Amino acid sequence: MNRQLKEKLKGILPEFLFDTYHSFRTAFSIAKVSLFRIKNTGDKHHCNFCGSKSGKFLPDGMDLPVITELQIMSAGRRSNVLCPTCGSKDRERWIWAFLESAKSDFLQNSNNTILHIAPEVQLRKKFKEIFGKNYINADLNPKHADVKMDITKIQFPDNHFDAILCNHVLEHIPNDQLAMSELHRVLKPKGWAILQVPLSQNLKTTFEDFSIKSEAEREEKFGQFDHVRVYGSDYFKRLENAGFKIEKVKQTSFLSNEQIQSLSLIEGEPIILAIKLAIKLPD
Ligand SMILES: [Zn+2]
Repeated sequence: MNRQLKEKLKGILPEFLFDTYHSFRTAFSIAKVSLFRIKNTGDKHHCNFCGSKSGKFLPDGMDLPVITELQIMSAGRRSNVLCPTCGSKDRERWIWAFLESAKSDFLQNSNNTILHIAPEVQLRKKFKEIFGKNYINADLNPKHADVKMDITKIQFPDNHFDAILCNHVLEHIPNDQLAMSELHRVLKPKGWAILQVPLSQNLKTTFEDFSIKSEAEREEKFGQFDHVRVYGSDYFKRLENAGFKIEKVKQTSFLSNEQIQSLSLIEGEPIILAIKLAIKLPD
């Protein structure tokens, strides 16, 4: 059912009909995924969250002309995205592979404090297990996380967190520069944030137009109904303006091509690591 039709029907039909529809849909999805797993046994792909192996992962995403035209990385329809056992996504497996790698000893210290915005399901489970009360997961919508948070106004003191994960969030925030400053403020000096966004490969300058307000037009221009921009290569300059030093970590810097293919990562997607310097650079 498309989104606009659903909104219209919600105003007309009683709520129990939607509950029934969702129950049917969930049962149908479970049956579909079970059949997919039976049809696609094998060991071509493996999931670094649940450890399962599969001949294929499930496809995900939606194709739109703007995504192809602007070559927006980590957007659009992709095959081999969702693990059919635990549901982990390609971009989530990439972050976990990075954190587990020899380049990061972060997971060994359960005293680390971590803030996770718009938490991805599998990462959230892992972080809860490892960091316990030192792990805060938050979202503007309280249904999606344990803590309600507006990242342009974070309710934590300066220099509080060792690390932040805030993936595929900034493209939703009108005042992204304020959000970036807030993320920088609550990080400890030498702390770091992973700040993935859908990034255009051929736009030098970020495209944003705040007069575009309808969901249909946002989908057409920005590639998703609730995005307010498409970031270009000046995304990194915006992060630097907030005080971060940026490092882009390549998949091939610590994974073999076989590992990349097995995890079915998004081709060429770097980890965007924003580090809070221990000193302030002169302007
Ligand atoms: Zn899995």
